[in-house]
Amino acid sequence: MVILYTYNNGNYINLKDAEIKPKNIYVNLTNKCPCACTFCLRNTKEMAETNSLWLKTEPTVEEIIEEFEEYDLNQFNEIIFCGFGEPLTRLEAILEVAKYLKNRRKDIKLRVNTNGLADLIHKKETAPLLKGLIDTVSISLNASNAEEFLRLTRNKFGIEAYDAMLKYAVSCKECVSNVVMTVVDCIGQEEIDACKVVCDSIGIPLRVRAFE
Ligand code: SF4
Repeated sequence: MVILYTYNNGNYINLKDAEIKPKNIYVNLTNKCPCACTFCLRNTKEMAETNSLWLKTEPTVEEIIEEFEEYDLNQFNEIIFCGFGEPLTRLEAILEVAKYLKNRRKDIKLRVNTNGLADLIHKKETAPLLKGLIDTVSISLNASNAEEFLRLTRNKFGIEAYDAMLKYAVSCKECVSNVVMTVVDCIGQEEIDACKVVCDSIGIPLRVRAFE
C-alpha cells in the first residue's frame, strides 16, 4: 500500500523507494470521490487496477502516522493531502494527521488538493475545522459555469455542486491563510479567461496548471 508518495516525470514514487528525498510529499488517503471526471485516470478500470496509488483498503490514521514516524519533518517543504480520490472524503483522518504533524513541527506547511465539494459530502460547513491545521487549500475550479462543471466532473450532487464549490472556496478564505483555485491549460484561453472572472468575483487567485 502506497501511503506517502512523491511525483516525478509522470510517475508516482513510494516515498520509501525515493532515492532523493523530495521537498514536497503527498499523502494517499482514499480512492473515493463523488465525481467521475471525464479526465480522471482513476475511472479507467485498467488504471485503477495497475496504478500503484490504488488502495485496496484505506490507510488508518495510525498507519499514516507510523509512516511519518520514519522521517525527519524538517526535510519537507510541504505535505499535501492529495490521494487518488478526493482527500476530504476522509476529513476526520486529515484533521488527526494534521494535528500530529503540527505537533511535531509547528511550521510545517500542509495543503489539501480538493474538488471543493467537502460541504456537500459531509452535509455541513467544514472549512472552520481546517483552521490552524491546514495552510493551503487548492480547489479544482475546472470550469467557468455550473453546466460545464457538471459535464466535466459528472459529480453525484448535480448542477448545484458548482455554486456549493464556490461557496466552499469563500468559506475556506475565512479560515485558511492561502486558498487557490486551479484549472488545466487545455481548456482553452476563452474558458481560462472566464474562470479568471469567476475567481476575481470571489477574490481568490487562479492558477493555470499544465494538463498531465
Ligand atoms: S475530483 Fe479528482 S479524484 Fe475525483 S474524479 Fe475528478 S479528477 Fe478524479
